[in-house]
Amino acid sequence: MRRSIPNGHKFERHRALLAGALLVVFFSITAGGTGYPSGQFLPAGEGERPAENGVARGSPAFALYISYLMAEIDASQEPGVICRISDEGMRMIRRFRGLVEKPVDDGNLLKLPSPARPFASTYQPGPLMFLADPAIPSTKQVEVAAVAFEPLREMVAFVNSHPGCQLMVASGYRSYERQAVLFANRAKRVLIEYPELQGDREKAERIAGRIVAVPGTSQHMTGRAIDFTTAVLKGGLVEEFAGTPEGRLLKEHAWRYGFVFPYAEGKEEITGYIYEPWHLLYVGKYHAEIIQMHGWVIEEYLGYMEKERSILFRATEGELRRYLYNEETGTVEVNLIKEKEPSWCYLRGRWNWEEKWSKQGKVVDRPRGL
Ligand SMILES: [Zn+2]
Repeated sequence: MRRSIPNGHKFERHRALLAGALLVVFFSITAGGTGYPSGQFLPAGEGERPAENGVARGSPAFALYISYLMAEIDASQEPGVICRISDEGMRMIRRFRGLVEKPVDDGNLLKLPSPARPFASTYQPGPLMFLADPAIPSTKQVEVAAVAFEPLREMVAFVNSHPGCQLMVASGYRSYERQAVLFANRAKRVLIEYPELQGDREKAERIAGRIVAVPGTSQHMTGRAIDFTTAVLKGGLVEEFAGTPEGRLLKEHAWRYGFVFPYAEGKEEITGYIYEPWHLLYVGKYHAEIIQMHGWVIEEYLGYMEKERSILFRATEGELRRYLYNEETGTVEVNLIKEKEPSWCYLRGRWNWEEKWSKQGKVVDRPRGL
């Protein structure tokens, strides 16, 4: 009896010491070891520079840290808002908020030919389909990528369900060879239109290249670029298309079907192409939505993602997504963020820190609105 009491004390002391040591290790790993958390969102890439802003290692309590991370997510409740998020931050949020990430887009639809990176003449798009559906009127026989067929059908049906609207497809997939013919024809026309070029073919081709894509650089090679016209415009591909009821409906709603306008007005210097309100490209709804909400062209989107690397985006319908830049492919992957099992951190409501931290910790890009 007498001996068991000191033994018992000894045991408890050991346990307390062990628990204390574990806690210290835990704090130093989670709070300080990675350079996170900080009192503010770090621009992408700066997470690797620990504690330079002076607050990174100074987090006083683990509870504060977790509530801060969770506030990051809740701060992006507003649709369209982008929050920067580090891998480490995301890992902690997943773990303590009971969330999982589900890959939904591998970024393949953002692989596009451009003057800087032309596709080889041997490039093969995925499966193609002829537009034989009466729901998709076209001015001639048109082939499109199978992946874009259903969204296209739905989008055209939506536009044409409005009184007086007669949206028509003017062109879709174009092979390398076909593009080469179109380009040569355009260059010839330039020489006729500008006699002062005096047979300077190179210059004529440069001018032609702003109107018709150089072979290997046309988005039509993918089968996902589609040119639209209307019955009133009689098949013409003209700027006036933007002002037609059909054009205006597309401008406002095409993103819902996964389409974007790659050659936007006022972005000619970035895209290298003239304004083409009739030319739409299917990139899938995850990319189309964020591009539309922020008024980007694809180049700006990719540039933004290359800089930020990893962001959280709250979609219009409330869905939370993580966008990740893939350096190897130069594209963006998308993960859905979903609730897993409820966990102890649902007690979060008990912490009063959140309000304060979410206000102070947020660096967001707001959408220009739809
Ligand atoms: Zn086009």
